[in-house]
Amino acid sequence: MMIICKSQKDLAGYLKKYREEGKKIGFAPTMGALHEGHMSLIRRARQASDWVVSSIFVNPTQFNDPSDFEKYPVTLGPDIGMLEKEGCDFLYLPTVQDVYPQGTQDLPLYDLGFIETVWEGKYRPGHFQGVCQVVDILLKVVEPSHLFMGQKDYQQCMVVARLLELTGRNKMELVVCPTLREDNGLAMSSRNRRLSLEERQKAGAIYATLKALSRSLTTGDLETQLAPWVDGLVQQGFRIDYIGLADARTLQPVHHWDGKKDLVALAAVFLGEVRLIDNLLITALK
Ligand code: AMP
Repeated sequence: MMIICKSQKDLAGYLKKYREEGKKIGFAPTMGALHEGHMSLIRRARQASDWVVSSIFVNPTQFNDPSDFEKYPVTLGPDIGMLEKEGCDFLYLPTVQDVYPQGTQDLPLYDLGFIETVWEGKYRPGHFQGVCQVVDILLKVVEPSHLFMGQKDYQQCMVVARLLELTGRNKMELVVCPTLREDNGLAMSSRNRRLSLEERQKAGAIYATLKALSRSLTTGDLETQLAPWVDGLVQQGFRIDYIGLADARTLQPVHHWDGKKDLVALAAVFLGEVRLIDNLLITALK
């Protein structure tokens, strides 16, 4: 049976004992509206840990767009059922007040450097500071041995790796899990619930485009190679925040490729009002 804790104090109380016993605690934080992608993290955590902890908290400080926050889907009943079925042991289900007892005004800022100035960082100012604020608090409560996150949010994984470094959590292992997709390739996401059936089908074009781009990519100028794929999505009615290629290790945009470094293709596009992100790793040419 899964234990639901609504306060930091309750959860920390349970976990303290297990930590002292030297048990492995696996943690997969979420914002709810759970899908198979989330469940894959729980399954991975189940394999690697003695105790599995998840959280559902729609963190206000990471939303730069108030309407995105207001429209974020909430499906608590089914979420709890899914977590229980996958064998999650503890669910932290707090209020904003419990996470931020002093309010959200004077929260710490983190020295994320370059990584928060590009891609998602550029288009969603303040987003990664918000992610760090909440993850730092969640990690203080849970103190997991392993933290499970999805490659779907590639840049977020890099930001959290930086947070672990900045906060001296050298022993905590960040496990990046593969992106789960719908049959048409659309990366599973809570925001997909806001798409119509027709839009969901159409949104398969995002991953199809990243895959086609990756297959056709050769060394040399990347802008000219990218342009037709971006155009293709625009023609189909997507509004593009960015589609680009970056160094897979640093996220530095790459405009000219020598074929020697791994790349990641990154996309953020709107379909109607819904913003969707995806990415695909492209390994160096042998
Ligand atoms: P979210 O609820 O969107 O904040 O996501 C919670 C965690 O689930 C994050 O670590 C995400 O990267 C991960 N996640 C979201 N979608 C997927 C997916 N399609 N496949 C794998 N992991 C995912």
